Amino acid sequence: MVSGPSGVGKSSIIDRLARRRRFRFSVSVTTRSPRPGERDGVDYVFSDRETFMSLVAEDALLEWAEFGGNLYGTPRRPVEEWLAAGDDVLLDIEIDGARQIRDTFPTALFLFIAPPGLEELRRRLQGRGDTSEGDIRLRLERARRDLASAPEVFDVLVVNRDLERAVDLVDAVIGCDGRVVDSR
Ligand code: ADP
Ligand code: 5GP
Repeated sequence: MVSGPSGVGKSSIIDRLARRRRFRFSVSVTTRSPRPGERDGVDYVFSDRETFMSLVAEDALLEWAEFGGNLYGTPRRPVEEWLAAGDDVLLDIEIDGARQIRDTFPTALFLFIAPPGLEELRRRLQGRGDTSEGDIRLRLERARRDLASAPEVFDVLVVNRDLERAVDLVDAVIGCDGRVVDSR
């Protein structure tokens, strides 16, 4: 389970991690509009609010939360099937969703990716060029809050200063967690 502020580099880390280790990535459902280059069914399943709420009513989501005025949720069925098959599953979700997963899967590994600082986070959000100034302000405000409450929810905090080093650290922590579980 990977979480962290918008723009911190979660997608960049997950993309690189996929070249090194095998895992299933849970594609979330969202009511947010696609950003340029995002593909339906690959980055997200893009949905309207009504369809999203019918998934909630059917209990088809493992968790869901609102972020920046949009809804995001994890489809239940694929995650349960992958776990039953013994596969490693990776979720990229925000902190309220992480709290819900923590209740359902207390032995999951909860990783928080932090920026080296809020100014650098602003530079990354601006550099990506797909988020408005107003949204950037909201995301920075939210990042400040999430950083403060991260220790309540997460096991490990990795600072994404240098990207390759952050991928090395995430890879090592996941590997190490396997050993911790095996030795119990
Ligand atoms: P998230 O998935 O957390 O929203 P992204 O992976 O989209 O974040 O990264 C946001 C921006 O920051 C992208 O433009 C990405 O290239 C850049 N970025 C990611 N990691 C680093 C890093 N370690 N140093 C500098 N820029 C980075
Ligand atoms: P973005 O709009 O930048 O892609 O994502 C905004 C935030 O929503 C990020 O913190 C991301 O981790 C989170 N997110 C993405 N999918 C889900 C999900 O299925 N559930 C929850 N709770 N958060 C999600």
